[in-house]
Amino acid sequence: MTSQGLAALVDAGEVAVIGLGASGAAAARLFARAGARVYVSDAGRGDRVQQVAAALRAEGVDAESGAHDLARIARAGTVVVSPGVPPSAPPVAAAHDRGIPVLSEIDVALRALPALTYIATTGTNGKTTVTALIGHLLRAVGRDAVEAGNIGTPLAEIAMREAPPAWASLELSSFQLHDTPSVAPRVAVLTNLSPDHLDRYDSLDAYYGDKMRLFANATAQSLRVVNGDEAEVRRRTAGIAGRALRFSLADSAAEAWYDRTGDRLMLAGAPLLPRAELHLLGDHNVANALCAALAVWAADPAHQTAEARARLAEGLRSFRAIPHRVEPVGEVGGVLWVNDSKATNIGAARVALEGMTRPVILLLGGRHKGEPYSAMLDAIRAHCKMVLAYGEAAPQVVADLEGHVPVERLGSSFEDVIARARALAAPGDVVLLAPACSSYDMFTDYLHRGETFRRLALGA
Ligand code: ADP
Repeated sequence: MTSQGLAALVDAGEVAVIGLGASGAAAARLFARAGARVYVSDAGRGDRVQQVAAALRAEGVDAESGAHDLARIARAGTVVVSPGVPPSAPPVAAAHDRGIPVLSEIDVALRALPALTYIATTGTNGKTTVTALIGHLLRAVGRDAVEAGNIGTPLAEIAMREAPPAWASLELSSFQLHDTPSVAPRVAVLTNLSPDHLDRYDSLDAYYGDKMRLFANATAQSLRVVNGDEAEVRRRTAGIAGRALRFSLADSAAEAWYDRTGDRLMLAGAPLLPRAELHLLGDHNVANALCAALAVWAADPAHQTAEARARLAEGLRSFRAIPHRVEPVGEVGGVLWVNDSKATNIGAARVALEGMTRPVILLLGGRHKGEPYSAMLDAIRAHCKMVLAYGEAAPQVVADLEGHVPVERLGSSFEDVIARARALAAPGDVVLLAPACSSYDMFTDYLHRGETFRRLALGA
C-alpha cells in the first residue's frame, strides 16, 4: 500500500531520478510500482549502467544512460538524487533553480514506510559498524529488524518487500541527510565528528551542518545518543530538543561508558559486558559497542528489562568485525595483517593505529582528500616502525611526515607496497592498511583495495 506521503509525490507529476546506482534504481522502481511516471538518467555509459537502464525500461520506467535530459528534469514534480551526485551537478542545480523538491531515496522510502520504527546513525566514522551493531542488537532483543541505507541495502528495496520489517537500523551519510527532510528516528545517533570530504564540501561547517540535519525534526519527545567525549559534538547538539544520552570511553556520568579499571562496558549504571568478551580491536570499537547498546536500550522500555540486558550482552559477544574495518585477515610467519581499507580519512586511520598492540608497518596513501597527515604524528610515533607512503598521495604524506617519523616513499604498484611491507615486518609485528585516503587512484573502490590487500597478504 502506498502511504499518503508517497502518494502526494506520485500525484505531483513526473519523478526524475538522478543516478542509476543501487539507490537510484530502487527509488525508480518504488515510484513506478506506486503508479508514478518515472524518468531516470545517469551520465555514465558503462556496462553496468546500461544493464540497469535496460532492466528498468523492461519494467516500464523511462531510463536513459549517457546523458540527462535537463529540460525534462526541470519539468518534473519531484527529483530524487543519489548520494554520489553533488548539489552542484547540472541536473540537481536545474531542479533547485525551479524550486522542485529534491529528495534522497531514503526520504522517499521513509514516506512509503509510515509504520517503520528506526534508529538512524550518522557521524564521520563508525557509522557502518554502529549501524550493523544496532541491527544485530535489535534482533538479539527479539525485533524483526534490518540494516539499510548507506550500509548497503537501499531502504527503497525494503519498502518494496511484501512484508516490510517493523524495525530498521539506518546508516545515513551527510550526503543522504542533505536531502532527507522527513527524517524522524526513534533514536538519532551521532557517532563522532572530524574533518572529512573536504574534496566535496566548501567548508567543515557545511559538512557538519549536513550531519546535524539528522535532528531537523527533533521534538521534546525525541531521543538522541551522542558521543560524550567530543567537544564538537557536545557544542553542536547542545540546543537540540529532546533527551540526550551519552556514551563515553572515560566519563562514569555517561549513560554508557567504558570502565577501564574494571575492564568492562557499563550501561545505565550497571556492568554490561567484560571488555575481553567484545571481539573487536581498538578503543574506537568499544565506543561503537557502547553507542549501539545505548541506542537499542533507549529505543523501547521493553529493551531495558533484565532479560533484554542479558540479550544485549549476548549480542555484543557474538558480533564480529565487518570486513575492511580493522579486520584481521591472517597471520603469516608471525606477522599479523590487518585490513582497514575503509579508513578513508585521517580520523579513522588514527584510531585504527591507536588500537594496535604490536609494532606497526603502516600503509598510508591513495587519493589525497585534503587533510594534513601531520595530524597522525603522535599515533605514528607511539605505534609505527615504518610508514610506507604510496599512490597519488605519497608526496604529500612524505612532505608531512618526513623528519618526524620513519617514512619511505613507494609508487603506485600495490604488489610492491605489500612486498616492501613483508620485507620490513618481523615476527610479532602487524602490517596495517589504514590508508587515510580514498582508493580511486589505484582501485575501483575501498572493497577492491581491501580484497587486493587480503589476497596479496595471504600470498594467494
Ligand atoms: P563509516 O561507515 O562511518 O565509514 P565504518 O564503521 O565503516 O564507518 O568504519 C570505517 C573506519 O573508521 C574503520 O575502519 C575505522 O578505521 C574507523 N572507525 C570505526 N569506528 C570509529 C570510531 N568510533 N571513531 C573513529 N574512527 C572509527
